[in-house]
Amino acid sequence: MIIGVTGGIGSGKSTVARLFGELGIGWVDADDVAREIVAPGEPALDAITERFGMQVLNNDGSLNRATLREIVFTDPSQRAWLESVTHPRIRERLLEHLRQLCTQSPYVLLVSPLLFESGQDALVKRTLVVDVPEAEQLARTLARDHVSEQQVRAILAAQLPRDVRLSRADDVIDNSRGRNYTQRQVAALDQQYRNSIT
Ligand code: ADP
Repeated sequence: MIIGVTGGIGSGKSTVARLFGELGIGWVDADDVAREIVAPGEPALDAITERFGMQVLNNDGSLNRATLREIVFTDPSQRAWLESVTHPRIRERLLEHLRQLCTQSPYVLLVSPLLFESGQDALVKRTLVVDVPEAEQLARTLARDHVSEQQVRAILAAQLPRDVRLSRADDVIDNSRGRNYTQRQVAALDQQYRNSIT
């Protein structure tokens, strides 16, 4: 059984995943896998370099994500092409990791900021949204990352609005309060998920 964990930037997805991890649950982060499939030596990176040239590579041969983002940000057709190359590979690799984790975990988590937006929710049995008010998302992201308020607001605007995300959730964790409160919700859901596997 795969549970999809999502939430906006700074909502606490990684924190919640780690708490499930402490209870023995395996998880994979879609952002990590998105980076993995464009690492040097991967066919997706070769395809990207062939299309956009050496400008999208750093000196060490790794993908220059900032340059690539600029190219596709201003050109929807290039963006569509990039997604047609990366999305199937991300999906395949995610499933590979999850299958592996399933051998040692009663159920597994797919953690993805864009679970609904990318259609990855089709891979999961249930969706779990980690929820905090937007002001808290902003404050926690600014405290965690070296980014400007304007950059965080741009990311917030590109993600699903909070009410839409919540309306699509099977389960919700309120992460607006202390970590103990979140931990208790994780423990309760873990019991629910274990009980639902028979
Ligand atoms: P995401 O993975 O959704 O971007 P994180 O799990 O990294 O979010 O959480 C964002 C930041 O907020 C991190 O610095 C984290 O330590 C902090 N954080 C997470 N949950 C709480 C909480 N309940 N109270 C206070 N800070 C929190």
